[in-house]
Amino acid sequence: MTRKVSVFGATGSIGVSTVDLLTRGRDVDPSAYDVVALTGGANVALLAQQARALDASLAVTAHPSCLPELRERLAGTRIECASGADAIIEAARRPVDWAMSAIVGAAGLPPGLAVLEQGATLALANKESLVAAGPLMMATARRHGATLLPVDSEHSGIFQCLGQEDPAGVERVILTASGGPFRDWSMERLRQVTPAQAATHPNWDMGQRITIDSASMFNKAMEIIETHEFFGLDPARIEVLVHPQSLVHALVGFRDGGILAHLGPADMRHAIGYALHWPGRGDVPVERLDLAALGRLDFEAPDENRFPALRLAREVMEAGGLAGAAFNAAKETALDLFIDKRIGFLDMAVLVEHVLDTLSAETRLGSAEFNLDNVLNVDHLARKAAIDSARVRA
Ligand code: NAD
Ligand code: MG
Repeated sequence: MTRKVSVFGATGSIGVSTVDLLTRGRDVDPSAYDVVALTGGANVALLAQQARALDASLAVTAHPSCLPELRERLAGTRIECASGADAIIEAARRPVDWAMSAIVGAAGLPPGLAVLEQGATLALANKESLVAAGPLMMATARRHGATLLPVDSEHSGIFQCLGQEDPAGVERVILTASGGPFRDWSMERLRQVTPAQAATHPNWDMGQRITIDSASMFNKAMEIIETHEFFGLDPARIEVLVHPQSLVHALVGFRDGGILAHLGPADMRHAIGYALHWPGRGDVPVERLDLAALGRLDFEAPDENRFPALRLAREVMEAGGLAGAAFNAAKETALDLFIDKRIGFLDMAVLVEHVLDTLSAETRLGSAEFNLDNVLNVDHLARKAAIDSARVRA
């Protein structure tokens, strides 16, 4: 049966891997997927090439200034072209069976919600939407009978370990973290880290932003919150374990003391393929692990003093309400400022903590008030507070 699919953020790291799997699927069975929409940013050459290869109905660039080039590159095809944030939301309203949410940042939230509102299956790589608006995402999925599947490797791993298990039997989940390139660096060295140093990951090949977030452990902080929101787990049951090889992605511990671990190569096509073929399994062309050749798997406790993002995640979950929206927006802004060399590596956590403190009154709210307008309002306030605070410090 042909499945209608769309990919949001098709030109990014996750998007390219998703397009790769869709292309392979169509090579085996040309009627497997009917590609509705592909969206991207400024790399319209890649977007146009993907749209042609997958014979998409619609290609959308986030930037209106890129629309003429997109049109030119798709001239002579029947592929419709559009641009801008509203066009991406409109694309997300076009009926599909399955969509990949792989835009980076809070910009992924409105299209993700629009896919859920049509009751489709949303494969969620965009962790920012769960951090900023977890209760809204989950409630929207429930209300519209939509299916939300995790794509983040740790969350896909937990999801796979849980299988048909009774949630009452789960005692804890353990997210692994590579520890990034600065795992054993001193505070003095961390203070001097440059954006170029932070943008290289020892194990994974990912977009620039998540790579730097991995180095600061803000990525793991986001993933703790993502676990809390997606699986409805009490924060006290969510642990982090540093595992430099990045081959064990997550572990689930049960009441009887047993632990199930999920292992796989550091290639996101496994988790993407799992979400694409769920509830079954399909062939995915990732490297097969040779555990004998690897010989060993190492584990160690994370250091919350050198990586305060982990502590901040716990404070955000404790605060509840819209604290996640403030946390995500402050983190995105702090990351921009670090990339622009306006603040140092360790200043990112200082800035985020400051914004959380400043906005503690604004983020407090009852669950009935949890709507997109409130999320976007706090997102806006947090970005402004982060920039103001960085200006004062400069
Ligand atoms: P990326 O930077 O490689 O790609 C991001 C995509 O989003 C691109 O297509 C870009 O054009 C688009 N985009 C960026 N800003 C946009 C905006 N304002 N509006 C619309 N589109 C926009 O990022 P990535 O590494 O592929 O990550 C995508 C998402 O998946 C992130 O939320 C990330 O945290 C998550 N994720 C990534 C990985 C990974 O291995 N790369 C693993 C787990 C989770
Ligand atoms: Mg992850």
